[in-house]
Order: sequence, then structure tokens, then C-alpha cells
Amino acid sequence: LERQLNRLRGLPAVTTDGVRIGLQANLELPRDLDTALHGGAEGIGLLRTEFLFMNRPDLPSEDEQYAALRHMVETLDGRPVTIRTLDVGGEKLATALGERIAESANPALGLRAIRLALKEPKLLETQLAAILRAGAHGPVRILLPMISSVGQVRAVRAILARVVSRLKRRKVPIANPVPPLGVMIEVPGAALTADALARECDFMALGTNDLTMYTLAIDRGDEQVADLYNPLHPSVLRLIQFTVEAAHRNAIPVSVCGEIAGDPRYAPLLVGLGVGELSMAGTALPRVKQRIRRLAAGPATQRARAIMDQVDETRIATLLDDFNEGL
Ligand code: PEP
Ligand code: MG
Repeated sequence: LERQLNRLRGLPAVTTDGVRIGLQANLELPRDLDTALHGGAEGIGLLRTEFLFMNRPDLPSEDEQYAALRHMVETLDGRPVTIRTLDVGGEKLATALGERIAESANPALGLRAIRLALKEPKLLETQLAAILRAGAHGPVRILLPMISSVGQVRAVRAILARVVSRLKRRKVPIANPVPPLGVMIEVPGAALTADALARECDFMALGTNDLTMYTLAIDRGDEQVADLYNPLHPSVLRLIQFTVEAAHRNAIPVSVCGEIAGDPRYAPLLVGLGVGELSMAGTALPRVKQRIRRLAAGPATQRARAIMDQVDETRIATLLDDFNEGL
């Protein structure tokens, strides 16, 4: 089996009826890079930059972030690297931010991710500058976490434009043209306005981990309610479908980068809903590719339609599992 999966590495993820699906890797730590490349990743669909900020009392400088990102970009050797801006809450950065950020009673609903970035624009400017500079060494994309409104995207675009002109004025080499700017769709309010967000950005990435959590009001890390955490809940699937359709209508790419992207079981449903890119842990790549190569997109689309007609999670799971068994 290992040899069979190895053989898959050089083959494209294409359905039996010729639909090409992009398979990329999620990275949490630089050391995951080897696994991603070994697994045949066509790029990095989600680079979580939190590692740059962890286990230290201060904030990483622009040069420090640039060096780490440049290393990634160079190692990827021409394959695109999607770099997500910082996705942590104020409480984790409290020391480095000089106690300007108070503790949240509900961190998951508090000052985290893009909200923190827009409240502390220096933090965001430094990150954007590092990303732009890394982009001089290979293709990068900028991804914004926890977006919930069009205004946030416009605010980041304005900051990005400012950082670009500052670097150009100083003749610092940066990505040219300015990298695509994408948004994570992981808050229900963002999914419900995906049509508007799609007009403001260059690509969208469905963060189904948080999307499931916020849609169902189930803490994704709470064991006591783990049995209720279900990405196959019809409400989650409708938000995914609406987002994918909005991306298609606006002719921008849409990926799924939550855990379900790395589970072969979900591949027929996601492909059937029209998702064109999946980003996952490097170790998950071969099995998902194998499943896609056994799949015909036509029947997958029909099965996805049948699933979207259902309101009962158990029935949805059965319809999906039956389809997978026939592959
Ligand atoms: C997600 O929420 O699905 C996601 C990919 O982001 P993270 O897991 O880093 O929150
Ligand atoms: Mg998330």
C-alpha cells in the first residue's frame, strides 16, 4: 500500500472524467514542509503563521518574519504559498503588546485574528511587509483569517496599498504584481455574505473547522460536545455550497482547508459541490488523491445534489458513505 501511495506522488489529482482538483498542503510548522513536499503538494494552501509568534515574550521583527517566509517560498520552488496573517487572540500576545489587549471572557468570540490585526495595524503592516518581500522570491498569496465583513477586506486593502508604496519608495524588492488577497470563510456571517466578499477579494478559503464550530455553536475543542460537532450538518453544507457558488459566479478560486479536506470520505462531496482546491496536512495528500482519481465528477455532482436535499445528518452520512463504498 505504501508503495502504491508513493507512486501517486507524481500523478495529478484528476477525476476519471477529467476534472482537475488542486491539492495543497497546510503548514503549521516549518518542519512540516518535508512531509508536504513528500506527499506531492502542488503548493501551500494554508501557511499558519502563528509559529512565528509563539513561545516568546516579544514580537518577531519584519526581517525575522521575512527570513522565515522566504525560506518557505524558496523551498517550494515556484509553487504558490498562501500565507495567512496572524490568527491568535489578544490574550496570547498580551505581553508583547504591552498589556494593551484585555483578556476576553469568550476568546473565540473576542479580539482575535483579523480583528486584532485591524486594531493593531502595526502588527499587520509588519506581517504584510514580510509577506510582500518574501513574494519577491516566488509566488505568494495573502490570506485573511476570521473575516466577517466587506469593510474589513477594504481596510486591509488600504493598509496593503500603503505598505506597498512604502517599500517601493525605499526600493525594497517585493512581489510584483501585488499578491492575490484572499479571505477565510469560517464565520457564518461571512459565508452568508460570500457573494459580496467574493467581489472584494481574489480567492476564498473555506475554514470548515471554525465554520462548523460557529454555525453549530459547538466548541471544536470541547470533548463534552464533540459528538455534536458535525461538518455534515445541513446548515454547514448549505454555507459551503453558497460560498462555492458565490466564488464561481465571481470567477475566483475557492478551496477548503479545514480538516475535512484531508479526509478522503469528504472528497466526493466537496468535488460534487464544485470545490476546485483542497488543502490539508501533508500526510493526508496521497489518500485524498487516490480517492479523487477513482471518482467521476458527474455522479459526484448528482450525489451532492441528493445530499443537499436532505435535512437529517444521519441520512446525509449514509448517502455519502454509500457513494464512497462504490469507489
Ligand atoms: C479552519 O478553521 O477550518 C481553519 C483551516 O483554520 P484553523 O484550523 O487554523 O482555525
Ligand atoms: Mg480557523
